[in-house]
Amino acid sequence: MSSGTAHRPACNPDLASYDLLAPQLSGGKDSAVMNCVFMDAVARAGVADRVISYHASLDVLEWPAVVVDGVRYPGVSELAALQSATFGIPANRHVEVTRTLPAPDGTRMVHSLLTEMAAYGRFPRMGSPYCRKAAKESVVSAAWTPLVTRMKRELGHPVRILKVMGLRSDGPDRKNRAAFRNIQTNSARIVDEWLPIKEWSTADVKAWHTTAPVPYSWTYDSAPGVGDWAGTSRCSCSLCVYAARRDLLLSVGRRPRLADLYAEVEQTRGDSFRADWRITDLIRHAKTCGAPDPGVICADDGPDFTALQQQVRAALQVEPRKEPDFARRNRRLPCDGCTPSR
Ligand code: SF4
Repeated sequence: MSSGTAHRPACNPDLASYDLLAPQLSGGKDSAVMNCVFMDAVARAGVADRVISYHASLDVLEWPAVVVDGVRYPGVSELAALQSATFGIPANRHVEVTRTLPAPDGTRMVHSLLTEMAAYGRFPRMGSPYCRKAAKESVVSAAWTPLVTRMKRELGHPVRILKVMGLRSDGPDRKNRAAFRNIQTNSARIVDEWLPIKEWSTADVKAWHTTAPVPYSWTYDSAPGVGDWAGTSRCSCSLCVYAARRDLLLSVGRRPRLADLYAEVEQTRGDSFRADWRITDLIRHAKTCGAPDPGVICADDGPDFTALQQQVRAALQVEPRKEPDFARRNRRLPCDGCTPSR
């Protein structure tokens, strides 16, 4: 499918000069558009055989699949795989990766980002977004390592990788980010980053989705399948420390058991979920002052959720790697009622 808009990709790197073309598919609304635009450019350059797509899964923390009135709405990891396949990437060239650690039986098990927050002792903050590095960037970079080792031996030079992301200029931290830049150079790999839809607006993205060949996540709507874009404005961790308060109130209503687990971490460690809001307060507000109608409530009662609970609680039994002094020094806003804001 052609991107079919007046937009041209932000700058045009020479795709044929790369050994590996690696779109990062989050499963969100922007990554679908990005992969469409990117795969158009790939087809023009005749290098489709160099593409491998990656999804850094946040496991239980990301929006799961839900069933409403007999209709199943896919979860975020499924959407990422769909975004890959729809624009021509074979299934065996879509890779889902997640952070793992050794299990007692010698295999490896998922090491959740929430467990990492519990073990670290502090939640991520503006200026210190360690969650993105821990749960996404490092995981994908590590997944490249065996490929890079093999390709470097075959090619006889450092492997040139183009990391392609769906980030747009819609936030202060993103506006100044270059649409194209080098992010790593060493003797094994040269990694450039390209943001082909950096200049797309949110309205452009929503308009694209009206005729898109892939569904967007149910969490963007007030209820699954409604199609009103009145749900959460983002789609990654269900409870993102950088989300707007309305998003968080909605998420607390949609995933009450997961919100309670974040609150356990907050209460045990003494750090607040955000510098300005405790999740404990958001949960109380949602119950007592009212919050947006969640539209759907996730049960979060399966074995994966139980495993997450056990892992997080085990991490809380151990001294944190960081004292939460930094967070305690931050100014927290007093409880001001539940007026939702976007
Ligand atoms: S969604 Fe938010 S909390 Fe989750 S990894 Fe991304 S920035 Fe961090």
